[in-house]
Amino acid sequence: MNETITKEKVNGKLTRSPSKVKKRGKKRNFEEIVKEFISPYHVSTNRYELESASADLTSLPSYHYKFKKNYLASIIVRPADTESLSLLIKKCWELSLPITIRAAGTSCFSSATPAMGGVIIDMRRINKVEHIDTEKMTVRVGAGISWLNLMEKLSDYGLAPKVYPTSFKTSCVGGFIATPGKAGIGVPKYGTMADSIISLTLVLPNGKVEHISKDSNGEISLDDITGTYGIYGAISEVELSLTNLQTSLEIAGYGFSSLEDAVNYYKALLSKVPDKPFFLSISERKFEQYSHINFPSQDWLVWAVYYDDPEVTIRSISAAENLAQNLKGIKVDESYLKEKWRDISDAEVAIGRTSRNIIFQEYWISNENLLSFYESYLKRASKYKFPIATYTISGEEGWSRVKVFGLSDITRPIEFFSVKAFLHDLSMESFKQGDSLYTIGIVNTFYLLKYRREVVNQRKILKKKVDPKDLFNSYRIVKARMKHWRISLLFTTAKLLYKIF
Ligand SMILES: Cc1cc2nc3c(=O)[nH]c(=O)nc-3n(C[C@H](O)[C@H](O)[C@H](O)COP(=O)(O)OP(=O)(O)OC[C@H]3O[C@@H](n4cnc5c(N)ncnc54)[C@H](O)[C@@H]3O)c2cc1C
Repeated sequence: MNETITKEKVNGKLTRSPSKVKKRGKKRNFEEIVKEFISPYHVSTNRYELESASADLTSLPSYHYKFKKNYLASIIVRPADTESLSLLIKKCWELSLPITIRAAGTSCFSSATPAMGGVIIDMRRINKVEHIDTEKMTVRVGAGISWLNLMEKLSDYGLAPKVYPTSFKTSCVGGFIATPGKAGIGVPKYGTMADSIISLTLVLPNGKVEHISKDSNGEISLDDITGTYGIYGAISEVELSLTNLQTSLEIAGYGFSSLEDAVNYYKALLSKVPDKPFFLSISERKFEQYSHINFPSQDWLVWAVYYDDPEVTIRSISAAENLAQNLKGIKVDESYLKEKWRDISDAEVAIGRTSRNIIFQEYWISNENLLSFYESYLKRASKYKFPIATYTISGEEGWSRVKVFGLSDITRPIEFFSVKAFLHDLSMESFKQGDSLYTIGIVNTFYLLKYRREVVNQRKILKKKVDPKDLFNSYRIVKARMKHWRISLLFTTAKLLYKIF
């Protein structure tokens, strides 16, 4: 705790970081300055905390910081409100210290981890429910609140958020706004996270506080903030539109032996049932097998959750049943579906029981291309010996987030890199067919630089304007640490060694 943060340790780029400042004739370090306005209990330089906050589920960040110091933060600060957040960011600006904003850290691909060392700002204490308007059905809340806490508070008023990620038990409102927030619970029925935002408060890289709404016409818009991983500032408060707590939840699930029938059924549930599902997913049997103890025997499972008034959910379930019969779907036992819904937030992680490392990639595939993407996945997968599994959740209209897991072990490096190669080939294929990746972090921004130059260039212009010192970790969306040709060379070598031709 009392360790001095020196210039070298706080910033990978030495020339930009005068971390000791002179005041009243006495030199003070950054930690001392911060402790003057943030409780010392919420300023940490503890080695274990730094390592854990500089990592994520993909285990790649921790692999990186073992070898490269600049992937490890030097200090974690947890401000409690917009005022202290603004002061903290202003101090970082004055001292040119790199910042990484972090909430629950459930996103992957190093999207909430440092790439230039420096300060991690943990947003989770900015979590107050400031105002609930039951008539307008809106809430103003600190962006660091977890979805679960928000849902519990709102339920007292008969209200609920429209959309949230399946990681809702831990993940925070600000995290879902800054990651795409385009796939998850409620999205097929109510639209994306961005659609629910009325306004928000952003602390800019110079510490200035800006209130931004749908109608504001300043330099930075709501569209610039949603899905840009905190590169333009920290969201401290959000005003969201809500929905009523509903009274009836019903689940329909069918197994299919043909991939084509499963995909057609999935798409029909979105277009041919009058009431949209609250949640919709399609998964391969292997995903069910690796994440649940008992599982249906058909190769593909499609299941939908309807959450509304009883008449609406019953009508939807019956429409879903009719469609399934036409496509030879086999009804899945209700108790299994209930278990899946109860365990929804754990399923992605539970698959990790079968391997020492969860290696995965998240693809953003148009529903039009879903069948061809899956066909290509199956064809490529047949060449590999390691276990592979996939599942998809429905997202923004016309789009799906497809998650592909390769279950291997870092202790078998050739196999480990072959799994990465398999996911890499699918990534390139998805970009070439007009699709993309879902989550963008330090380890996969290089795909954007290669395949979506125009998006990157556009984002760079605003980045230069609002963050000319480049303090808010930009190694996502606008800058890549890795080079496409080096990754391709590494993975091609791995495939040759693994005898994949
Ligand atoms: C089991 C599981 C299920 C998941 N399900 C879904 C899902 O259904 N849909 C989905 O989209 N994702 C899902 N994810 C990914 C992840 O949980 C979500 O993206 C989540 O919204 C991230 O929130 P977080 O609080 O953990 O943010 P973090 O991981 O801490 O941060 C994510 C990004 O947002 C930025 N950020 C965080 N807070 C702020 C802020 N206040 N201001 C500015 N920038 C900020 C960070 O810098 C980082 O770039 C899942 C992950 C897991 C492990």
